[in-house]
Order: sequence, then structure tokens, then C-alpha cells
Amino acid sequence: MRIFDPHIHMTSRTTDDYEAMAAAGVRAVVEPAFWLGQPRTNVGAFADYFDSLVGWEPYRASQFGIRHHATIALNPKEANDPRCRDVLDLLPRYLAKDGVVAVGEIGYDSMTPEEDEAFAAQLALAIEFELPAMVHTPHRDKARGTTRTLDVVAESGIEPGRVVVDHLNEVTVGQVRESGCWMGFSIYPDTKMSPPRMVEILKEHGLERMLVNSAADWGRSDPLLTRATGEAMLAAGFTADDVDRVLWRNPVEFYGQSGRLDLSELGEVAATFEGSSIKRGGS
Ligand SMILES: [Zn+2]
Repeated sequence: MRIFDPHIHMTSRTTDDYEAMAAAGVRAVVEPAFWLGQPRTNVGAFADYFDSLVGWEPYRASQFGIRHHATIALNPKEANDPRCRDVLDLLPRYLAKDGVVAVGEIGYDSMTPEEDEAFAAQLALAIEFELPAMVHTPHRDKARGTTRTLDVVAESGIEPGRVVVDHLNEVTVGQVRESGCWMGFSIYPDTKMSPPRMVEILKEHGLERMLVNSAADWGRSDPLLTRATGEAMLAAGFTADDVDRVLWRNPVEFYGQSGRLDLSELGEVAATFEGSSIKRGGS
């Protein structure tokens, strides 16, 4: 089973996690820029974090044979802090970098006017830099937050097929599917989405535009829940090709739209993808 985790915060994880992920079949990850728990008080703290996401963390991942890409953004929670607003001016420098495959995580936390402004501004940046957008939906008031998220995405003019709306569940999946956006699901150990619930959603809504991630971070989370979901799919009667589509080919297709996904040294893995937007070695 080859696995591409399209949303995981490796900055918060140990080398034991990298080792276990590699053994479980994880060969590529995307790490979205997000809140670090401890609030940041100045723009320089973001610059150091972004540098780490495009420099140090890919190096750390490579030691375990895992390809690491990042998404860069001012996250919704810290968009509310006036001391962090100027991060928006810092973003273009990072969105131009090779290892950055989307603008994200953007979207809503508490649905404030400040979040509205940062969300719209960053969707405009995604269009300007011809990058996909990775959108986080709030964990509270999820249905209303998702509706409003889809409205803002539609107003921005970005093509829905270049947007993933993440942290979905049984209640919110339908409206995102209808919008034409990609559907992201974060599988958690004891709250929100679990592997069996994910399998039921795949049975009902199909495999197209579906992304499954562990969203593992500094909280209680498990970077191997992508693998557990693949196993649960097989146990429920899905084929190995179905699992490969959801856990590998779908994230490759979505983030491949950036034109910057580099899976070249993964050899036969890259060769089996028939898209044209994957950057090969030496190009
Ligand atoms: Zn996240």
C-alpha cells in the first residue's frame, strides 16, 4: 500500500513517527502551515516557521524516504491577531517557492470579519500564483461554517476543482461534493472522523475528489490512520486499486495541479502516474 498523506503537521512529530509512517507505506506528505498552539506575536516568527516548512522539514522527511511538500498561508485563527496581519505581505515570497504546492490552511475558525478578509485575500493569492487552495473548516458550527466557506470560494472566482475543503464529516460532505471542490477528511483517534465512518462515506459518495489525511499535529492524533483507513476499505470490500486511488492517486492529482509536485526520486511511484503536471527529475 503506497500512501500520500495530504495533510499532516510533521513539525510536531518525532522521528519515530517518520519511521513508523515509512514502514506503513507513507512515501509522500503535504504539511500545511497552521497554528502552532502557542500564539505568535510577530511576523518574523512566521518567516522562521515557513522557512522550516520548505527547508528543514523536507530534509528530515527525506531521511526516511518520504517526500515532503508544504502549503503556506496565514491560518484563520491567527488572522484575528493584528500583530500577525502583515504575514499577508510576506506570503508572495513563499508562494513562489518550488516546494510549495498550495495556499493553505485558509478558511474560518470563528468566522470573524478579520477571517473573512484574510480568507478572500489568500484565495486571490492562489489565483495569482496559479496554486490550489487548502481550506480548513471550523470544528465548531461546522455546517454553517462550510456553507459560508463555499460561498466565499465561489465569490473568489477560483476554479472549484483547485480547492480542497477539509475536516469534513457526514453532515458537510454533500454540499462540498455538489460545489465541485475536493473533499478532505481528517481521521482522528477518538473524536470526529474514524476509519469505519470514512469507509461508509466512500461507499455513499464514491472515490472521486476524495482526500483522506491524518491531520496529525501537536494534539492527540495518529499519523498511521491513513493506513488504517486503507485497511478498513479493503475489509469492507474495496479493491487494492480503490485504496491506491484514494490514498495515492487522488492527492497526486490534486496537488499536481500546482505543477510543482516533485516525486521524481520515488522512481516507479512517479512513473505510474499518467498526469503531465508532475515534475520529473532534472526538470
Ligand atoms: Zn491542519
